Amino acid sequence: LPVEFKKARPVLQRIEKAGYQAYFVGGSVRDTIIGVPIHDVDITSSAYPQEIKQLFPRTVDTGIKHGTVMVLYHGHGYEITTFRTESGYQDYRRPDHVTFVRSLPKDLKRRDFTINALAMRENGEVTDLFDGLGDIKRKVIKAVGNPDRRFHEDALRMMRAVRFASKLDFKIEPKTLEAIKKYSFLLTKIAIERVHSEFVKMMMGLKPRMGLDYMIETNLYRYVPEFKDQLDALKRISKIPHLKLTNECQVWSLISYEFGLNRHQINHLLRQWKSADKVIDDTITTTRTLRAIHDHKLTPIVIFKAGLTRLMDANHLAILLGFGDQDADLKKQFKQIPIARKNQLKINGGILIKGHILAPGPKLGQVINQLELMVINRQIPNQEPALLTAAKKLSK
Ligand code: ATP
Ligand code: MG
Repeated sequence: LPVEFKKARPVLQRIEKAGYQAYFVGGSVRDTIIGVPIHDVDITSSAYPQEIKQLFPRTVDTGIKHGTVMVLYHGHGYEITTFRTESGYQDYRRPDHVTFVRSLPKDLKRRDFTINALAMRENGEVTDLFDGLGDIKRKVIKAVGNPDRRFHEDALRMMRAVRFASKLDFKIEPKTLEAIKKYSFLLTKIAIERVHSEFVKMMMGLKPRMGLDYMIETNLYRYVPEFKDQLDALKRISKIPHLKLTNECQVWSLISYEFGLNRHQINHLLRQWKSADKVIDDTITTTRTLRAIHDHKLTPIVIFKAGLTRLMDANHLAILLGFGDQDADLKKQFKQIPIARKNQLKINGGILIKGHILAPGPKLGQVINQLELMVINRQIPNQEPALLTAAKKLSK
């Protein structure tokens, strides 16, 4: 058992001693059996939330309505969810209403894929009602039960299928794949935030090329924002050898680059996907830097504006696309720029105002920007006297 399970064992034992059932479930069981690192340990139990709260001194109500309580144990938080079924699916989304049950099989039946429907007791004993273990061996993603019905109930599961295929390097089982083709259009019913999360995880998986091919083959790509008219670009991305992306900025920058988007279009795309402002800014910068690398226009100014992190992201993509530089070379170029950040300039607005060189106002900002450019381009040294002299000339 992985250490994460060993640490959580006493929690399960406590619940069992009190006469309830408790199991590790979901992604952590799947990943343990496959042999990849796990991140969060999910626990499912026959005990109701109130019953769990009576067993442990420290708990947090994280989702009582849905049957989830977090138990704090030895500095760690464990989400414990009561066995439940989901009924009354409406609008192709997961229902808000859940029913607690005392039977593990009913809980496992509501889960999306056979590999995600495995439960493990504290003693290591596995419950596998849908041959999830066999599907792990065969490396397939297969819906629990009738795939048509399952995707109809919750259309997000289609994106999850593609995400797990990429994450694990598994194939989607033929009948499950057929159902996705049939119902891909239902993806538009799902809140974009949820689609976004699955898409980015897919792109950061082991086989994003396969994930993209699945999105193309099933037509899912047509039902996410701004992808419909970009089939050629998506195919180009899916053919990039050794495609491996390690953060969200890289994902969106590669897409923006291949889609041929300018900064306004990147902004538009990522607003549609409800991305965070920081991701949007970083993507605009990284895409611009990537183009500069491609066009051999990587000037000190471009390097300065990128900053080291975005420069490395851009070069990672440039290497994938076959025109990258050595990381070490770029790091050296970055270090050679006289200033790494604006606040390293040996002059600021306050000094210029106090020296009666400039009054507060828009002109002041413009002069500082010009001084910054001159320092980066090594036209003047980053020293106060030289900067003051230059400022005087510029202020005229
Ligand atoms: P990850 O490693 O990304 O956390 P995971 O399998 O744990 O993968 P979660 O989104 O954390 O995925 O969900 C936990 C479990 O809940 C899943 O393994 C699955 O059993 C169930 N589940 C999650 N989302 C759905 C869904 N949309 N439909 C049915 N079951 C789901
Ligand atoms: Mg999980």
